[in-house]
Parts: sequence; structure tokens; C-alpha cells
Amino acid sequence: MNYISTRGAGSNERHTFFDILLGGLAKDGGLYLPADYPRVSADELARWRTLSYADLAFEVLSKFSDDIPAEDLRSLTRKTYTAQVYSNVRHEESAVQITPLKTLGEENGTTISLLELSNGPTLAFKDMAMQLLGNLFEYALAKHGETLNILGATSGDTGSAAEYAMRGKAGVRVFMLSPHKKMSAFQTAQMFSLQDPNIFNLAVEGNFDNCQDIVKAVSNDHAFKAAHKIGTVNSINWARVVAQVVYYFKGYFAATQSNDERVSFTVPSGNFGNVCAGHIARMMGLPIDQLVVATNENDVLDEFFKTGVYRVRGAAETYHTTSPSMDISKASNFERFVYDLLGRDPARVLQLFRDVEEKGGFDLAASGDYARVKEFGFVSGKSDHDDRVNTIRDVFERYHTMIDTHTADGVKVARENLKPGVPMIVLETAQPIKFGETIREALHREPERPAAFVGLEKLPQRFDVVPADTAVVKAFIAERT
Ligand SMILES: *Cc1c(COP(=O)(O)O)cnc(C)c1O
Repeated sequence: MNYISTRGAGSNERHTFFDILLGGLAKDGGLYLPADYPRVSADELARWRTLSYADLAFEVLSKFSDDIPAEDLRSLTRKTYTAQVYSNVRHEESAVQITPLKTLGEENGTTISLLELSNGPTLAFKDMAMQLLGNLFEYALAKHGETLNILGATSGDTGSAAEYAMRGKAGVRVFMLSPHKKMSAFQTAQMFSLQDPNIFNLAVEGNFDNCQDIVKAVSNDHAFKAAHKIGTVNSINWARVVAQVVYYFKGYFAATQSNDERVSFTVPSGNFGNVCAGHIARMMGLPIDQLVVATNENDVLDEFFKTGVYRVRGAAETYHTTSPSMDISKASNFERFVYDLLGRDPARVLQLFRDVEEKGGFDLAASGDYARVKEFGFVSGKSDHDDRVNTIRDVFERYHTMIDTHTADGVKVARENLKPGVPMIVLETAQPIKFGETIREALHREPERPAAFVGLEKLPQRFDVVPADTAVVKAFIAERT
């Protein structure tokens, strides 16, 4: 399997899965994609239907990573996708399924269900890919005799998922910046209660933007970056995207009786990483009818799918909402889909994303490309705070199921896109406990708390407070690497 950049540079070079595993952007600023999407045959699809999650992950991943020996990949997926790692289930009987499918009920002539992706250690879907990434990184670094220092900024979900994936891994350290005293008590406790010596929590005296600016400044210092082996684990990482392809297959098998049926997925979306994996599953031949992109008030993606205009938002137009993991000003994985939409023409992708940098966006409305969005199955919708509150309440009353704010955005938009006879699967991206304030507003009761998290906020915390100063952060890293 050869990987290419969406912007076309170095197209005569070969990049394997291993080559791009530890990196981020391609050298020309584009994103990596396989030169061709592997197809799944009818025979394979039939055989995959009954596999365990770990073995299904092996089958899907082996189509994208032929430079990892099969027995190594098999042991990596079996080590990652265990009932023990994904143990925060709400029903005992679903523990072994890793991603249980919970049927809500019948609406508009079809079945609507939730694919539970948030039973991992940090109670958000990012664990699905990040846990594998932790094991892949450890494996790759050991093979090359290297070490890696992951630097990131977080306001919640990504940072904790990365820390829980990398804790105790040989050859890896994590330096995670977060805005001091600005995360919820639960999210702070999740990260800061980790006592592993390879995890460093830096509480920055400033806001999330200050944290991101420091990460950017450090990454732009190429000499420092090389000397201290700095890397990232952000959502454009190809291995993260491909690990997410697996649960689209798993969800499809759980919602259907035979491989002649079609299903639709609704995906609460921010950076387009999760739904990009759905797009790839569909390109591989999984019978997906529609991919429904659900946004919150930050509707960059909904606007594109409705109008063909992609317009990046400034800070004043980027809203802090009660589904904060979808609060984005631009969708960093979107370029991967645009590449396919434009018939894989890197020169045009380069031009469009230059327009994004210089003019803040592009407009495909007048071109034939936008009309092709439908061929790829994409539709979209948006949801706001009142929709979230109403949906959380309605799903609780009607189906006795408590959902989080992001999943509520998904259910709201899914309901606007139901087709009789086509099962609708909404991806559940987090558990309600992470966003307790809105649960209390909607239901006047406390969110459900998985047993492992009782008393979390009372555990001792390990973190260092630092000023919003790049030099201080660099010195902190330099002392420890
Ligand atoms: C990260 C996240 C999202 C958005 O996923 P993308 O891959 O960025 O589209 C949605 N919901 C939750 C809970 C998240 O943590």
C-alpha cells in the first residue's frame, strides 16, 4: 500500500503505513491518503460478519498496512480491543462487544439506534483509535530503537484520550497543555489523576488558544523539534482515521441480517475525522446509504454540504457551545474528502486550500463537483443548545436512555434524515457524565457515572502550572527529554 499527499508533491516517492504512522502533515502541507482504496469483496464481507471486534480490526487494518507482519498486527489488535479496555459499559452483557449497538426504537418507518463508541478509558469515541495508536507507536518505536515526545494542547477529550493511550508505553512521553482552571472538574481529574511518570500535564495560565499557540511555536522551531523528537497525535493522523473505519463495519453487521441491506450513519462532527472514516468504509464497498454530518452551532460543514461553500470561521464566529468537542473554526480532515470529490486532482486541491489560506474559503457551488456530493452519500444538518436539551429529554423519556450533548446533536439531525426501511445508526461519541451540566439542565438529575469513575475528583492530582510562555514550556520539555 502506497500513500500519497492530497496536494501531490513527492508523488514519485513511496510512503508506507509505517512511514506516515508517526508523522502528521505531508511535506507539501497536504494530508496522506492511500493511492487506491482497498475494496472488500462479497466473500470477505460475509466472512467478516461474525468476527470479534479485534479480529475485524485486524482484517480492515491489514488492507492498509502491508508493511506490518500479520502476526504482529494480529497481536496489536487483540491487545487493544479487549473487554477490559472497553469496560465502561452500561449493560453487563455488552462488555465483550467493544462497540455495542443499542436500539432506541422505530421512527418514521425505520429503526434508529446508537453505536456505543464511548466505553473506553476516557468515555469518548477517541479511545477507539487512540488506544490502538498507543500500541502501534510503542511497537514502531521499539522496532526503530527510537523515542517520541508527544506535545499537544487540549480543552478536554483529545488530551485525555492521548494520555490514557500512551501511559506506561515504552519510548513515549506526553506533554499536554491545558488552560489552567478552565476545564470541567471531571475532565481535569481524568487527566491530572494520572500518576504515570511518562505523562506530563502542564496547566497553562491562559486560555486554550494560548496553549495551541505554544504548541505551534514549538513545532515551528524545527531545530528544537528534531533535537527533542517532538511529535503529535492530532486528528489528521492517518492511523487514527483508519482505526475508526472498523466500527462502521461492526455497526453495519450489528444492524443488519444480511449483506444485501443498506444502512445510514449519522456522525456528530467537528474536524471531520470520524465521518471521514465512514466515507472510507463506503469507498471500500460497505453498503452505506447516507453519511449524515451533524454539526452544532459551529456549522462550517453543514454550510458546505448545503451550499457548496466552504468558509473558515474567525475567532469571533467560533462559538463555545455545550457540545464543545465539535467547536471548530475549520475541519482539519475535510481536505481528504475534497480530494476524492474532485476526482483525486491534487493540483485543484492545492489551489482550493491556498484559497482557504488567502481568502478564507472556496465555493464549489457553480462547479459540477458539488453536485457529486450526493454520489458520496453525504447530507448534513445542525443542532443548537435548545435542540440538545430537548433531544436529551425526549430520548430519556421515550427510550429510558441517557445520551450526552454531542450524541444529542447526532440524534436531532438523524431524525431529519430518516428513510423508511433504511436503519439509521447514530454514533454515540461520549458518555453523559463528561457533560453533566447540560444533563442536569435537561433532566434535573445527575448523569450516570460508570463504577470506575466514582470518587475520581477526590484522587490526588499531578500537574505543573506554567505561564503562557513558549520559552518556559521548551525548558520544561528540555529538562525531561
Ligand atoms: C472529537 C469529538 C467529536 C468530533 O469528532 P471529529 O472526528 O473531530 O469530527 C464529536 N464528539 C465528541 C464527544 C468528540 O470527542
